[in-house]
Formats: sequence, C-alpha cells, structure tokens
Amino acid sequence: MSKPGRHRQADNSPTCRRTFLKRNGLGLIGVLLATDLSALHQTEENMTTEHTNEDHNYEVIIIGGSYAGLSAGLAMGRSIRKTLIIDGGKPCNRQTPHTHNFITHDGDRPHAVAADAKRDVLKYPTVSFVNSLVTKVKGSDGAFELTTTDGNVYLAQKILFATGVKDIMPAIPGLAESWGISVIHCPYCHGYEVRSKRTGILANSPAVKEFVKMILNWTDQLTLFTNGPADFPVEEVTALGVDVVTKVISDIDHAEGYINHLNFSDGSKFELDALYYRAALEQHCKAPEEMGCVITDTGHIEVNQFQQTSVPGVYAAGDMASPFRAVSLATAQGTVAGAMMNHELINAH
Ligand SMILES: Cc1cc2nc3c(=O)[nH]c(=O)nc-3n(C[C@H](O)[C@H](O)[C@H](O)COP(=O)(O)OP(=O)(O)OC[C@H]3O[C@@H](n4cnc5c(N)ncnc54)[C@H](O)[C@@H]3O)c2cc1C
Repeated sequence: MSKPGRHRQADNSPTCRRTFLKRNGLGLIGVLLATDLSALHQTEENMTTEHTNEDHNYEVIIIGGSYAGLSAGLAMGRSIRKTLIIDGGKPCNRQTPHTHNFITHDGDRPHAVAADAKRDVLKYPTVSFVNSLVTKVKGSDGAFELTTTDGNVYLAQKILFATGVKDIMPAIPGLAESWGISVIHCPYCHGYEVRSKRTGILANSPAVKEFVKMILNWTDQLTLFTNGPADFPVEEVTALGVDVVTKVISDIDHAEGYINHLNFSDGSKFELDALYYRAALEQHCKAPEEMGCVITDTGHIEVNQFQQTSVPGVYAAGDMASPFRAVSLATAQGTVAGAMMNHELINAH
C-alpha cells in the first residue's frame, strides 16, 4: 500500500504556510496575513459533490457526511487538509418534517440544515464529497485503505467514522411509517410541538417510570402502553396519575405518519396525537468494530474526550459514539474530531 501524503507544492502551499505560521506563532492574524482567502474558496459554479482527485490519496477521510461528518469536514477544510467525505445519504432523522433544538435552525427541515452544512463545507477546495458506502477499512495509523461499494479504493492518514446508528423498528404496522413524525423518541426534539396533547409512551421495562416522569413535563394527557404483560410494578406508574394499558397493539392507524389511533388485538382502539418510543439501535457501519474499536455496553463506539477511538488514527463522532442524540452534539463532536485530527497531522511531520 502506498503511503498517503500531502502533495508538496510551491512556496505558498498550505504546508509551507502552516510551517511559517507555526514558527512565527501568528495565529489567526497570521493566517489572514499569509493567505489569500479568496483563492481558498470555490465558487457556486465549481462547488461539486463529485470526487475530483485522481490519486484517491487523502490526509483525512470522513466516513458519513451528515451533521457530525460535515462539521468535521468544515474543520478540515479550514485547516487546509486534503479531505474526502464519503456519505451514504441516509441520516437517521430523514423522515422527520422539522428539526428542533438546534440553535439558528430551530424548526428547519433536516435536509435543508444538511444542505446548508454541505454548502459551507464544499466552499473549501481541499474538501471533496462522494456519495457512496464504505464497506471495508484496513491498515493502521498513517496508512488506512478504504473500499467503497462502487469498487473505489481510497487512502488516508487519519479516518473519522461519523456513520450514525440505525433505529430498529418493532413489527407493529404503521410504527416505522410514523417514525419521526408522530412516533417520536426525544422530548427535547419534538415534545414542545405535542405539548398538552394526547400522548402515549410505548415501553415495557423497569426504567419506564423515569421516562414517564419526564414526559409529564410536556403533557398530563399521558398513557403508558406496554404491548403485553408489564415487566415492572404497574403501581409505580399509576401512582404518577398515568394509566397503564397492557393490551397487545396490532397496528397504528395513521395518515402520512400522523397517528389517528392505536388498534389492539382485542378489536378496541385508543386515540392519540403522539407516541414516544425509544428504538433499539445498531451501528450503521460494521467497519469500526471489525478494525478492533472498543464498543461500549450501550453499543456505541468508545471514544475519549477528543473523539479518539481505541484504535490509533481512528476517530468517531456523532450518534455512533454517544448515547445523547442531537444535531448540536453531533456537530460539536465533529468539530472536536476535526481539530484533533489536524493536531495529530501537525505533529506527525
Ligand atoms: C426521527 C429522529 C428525529 C430527530 N430529531 C431531532 C431534532 O429535532 N433535533 C435534534 O437535535 N436531533 C434530532 N435527532 C437526532 C439527530 O438526528 C442525530 O443526533 C444526528 O442526525 C446525528 O448525526 P450523525 O452525523 O452522527 O448521524 P446521521 O445524521 O445519522 O448520519 C450518518 C450518515 O452516515 C452515513 N453512513 C452510514 N454508514 C456509512 C458507510 N458505511 N459509508 C458511508 N456513509 C455511511 C449515513 O448514510 C448518513 O448519511 C433525531 C433523530 C431521529 C432518529
């Protein structure tokens, strides 16, 4: 495998500029003085999602180009690092009509937020973006080799996984179709929009009491559905003033994802506006585990405060590496990972 590396260029190359700035300690002011910023930005016309580098050889490859990956990509572009983002185009919130609790974008459509982010990132000419899926990663720090479903092979010194998680839907007809629309997982993301409305929680575990207490903050029209015999002392929940329904749900009646009512196997039904459900998760991409990255008890990739996994040179950010799911947190983790990858690259030369 050939060693990936930055192309050495003339005297005003990014590397030379960075060395100059490092020696002279000029920081941001130095960057502004030493760099013709206009030359760094692509125009709308040449901004592209196509891969443009023939050699497939990068300093950084980011696998997953949604909120965490794009955020890291921005840090990479602004660090003048030759970077490729490879994205499968299936963010976990793609079915939800509006994203909330992300400052400056509260209530915007998820794909619009992602499109804005992508536009920001692709202004930087050292960053490329391809639509594909990474199937295999091998190698070690400084020399990783990635293979995609379309048969391309790419080389990178550092890699960041930002591949998110898959929500596993139970076999209740109508639930997957309503996911993110009226079947919701997080009160901070969607609770305000259904405040005081007829709301259910679909859950059946000893931990449910805490979740019930939490959702009571948003609505007192709350019912807990266990979809079969309860696995916890029901009195703990009824004592909070919340009814517990143990009937088996046969399907969810909805109109384009907006719930009308739950149907039960005994033929009865229950009218609702919203249903909280915490789906089981699995990693979208098996490569980190195959590479030996440590997995936590909750199924996330273990990272330290710098988003470094247990495998040198391999980073992880966003939902795949954190039980706290939010666009703001995913982007913050991408920023940290980007800064740390750049830090490691600076110190590698
Ligand atoms: C239904 C729903 C609604 C939500 N609503 C909100 C909300 O209102 N506000 C909020 O703050 N948060 C919300 N969230 C949480 C938020 O969407 C996530 O925290 C955020 O999307 C995580 O970003 P990410 O970049 O880690 O992963 P994702 O956004 O899930 O993106 C992962 C990307 O990696 C790609 N990928 C996966 N495997 C590969 C591979 N092998 N090769 C290449 N690419 C790959 C995927 O195709 C995808 O594009 C919601 C989540 C859900 C499920």
